[in-house]
Amino acid sequence: MPCVNMNAVLPKARREGYGVGAFNILDYASTRAVVQAAEENAAPVIIQTSPKTVQFWGCGTVAAWYRELAEKTGVSVVLHLDHCKDLEVIRRCIDAGWTSVMIDASSRPFEENLELTAKVIQMASPAGVTVEAELGEIKGVEEDVAVSSTQARLADPQKAALFCRSLSLDLLAPAIGTAHGIYKGEPRIAFDRLEEIARLTGLPLALHGGTGLSAEVFTRCIALGCAKVNISTSLKHVFIDSFVSYQNSHPQEYEPVKHLGFQLEELKKDVTRHIRLFGGAGMA
Ligand SMILES: [Zn+2]
Repeated sequence: MPCVNMNAVLPKARREGYGVGAFNILDYASTRAVVQAAEENAAPVIIQTSPKTVQFWGCGTVAAWYRELAEKTGVSVVLHLDHCKDLEVIRRCIDAGWTSVMIDASSRPFEENLELTAKVIQMASPAGVTVEAELGEIKGVEEDVAVSSTQARLADPQKAALFCRSLSLDLLAPAIGTAHGIYKGEPRIAFDRLEEIARLTGLPLALHGGTGLSAEVFTRCIALGCAKVNISTSLKHVFIDSFVSYQNSHPQEYEPVKHLGFQLEELKKDVTRHIRLFGGAGMA
């Protein structure tokens, strides 16, 4: 399949009521695990990259993994830049071949967030790259995005409506009570707010902080308009734990491709579990 942006997968998902998983990759093997799991489940999928991962490997390398895998598979695969505050990094990713980017100016005042998002849309649109913006502040710790729970602000539906009317935005990440990282206790999701934002904006919404939410919460959020569901922490844990557990059970083994093979299979299982949970299987 050719490389596609969010508009090739999200409007259909929102219309038909399923979620497209956006999985934060860490290296080539995890990227391959995500694409293979999507292929085996005939599901559209989003390869998501944190700015930290992009910085570690370099734009050209990550874009080459994406092209190599996306062009050879029969399912739609999007390459998306997650939570980026730096316009220069966004520019470099657009030039390298990302098909979608997120500008995270949610810690700024509303007007500044609007202004920065407009700038990114101006950079992205001519290249056919879709744009995600954040409203309110999604709490938790992810990369260098840290917002203490007391500072956490939920997205305001009226402001969300105004924000989306003022811009030709492709998708919106409203803060609705989910958090990045591992939940301590039961998260309190503002379903009413989510419903209102979905209705007032009409856009596909992105659900952040997906790791650890119950099947019931996923189903409800997806039904209310969350067409993109982010999974990062879960893959980080499987990435490390699978490698370590393989070594613990094979202490004499120093042929790393065996560890990598086990790790790839475990990552695929985790991605598959989420794809099925979001109702994306068979929707490619
Ligand atoms: Zn996030």
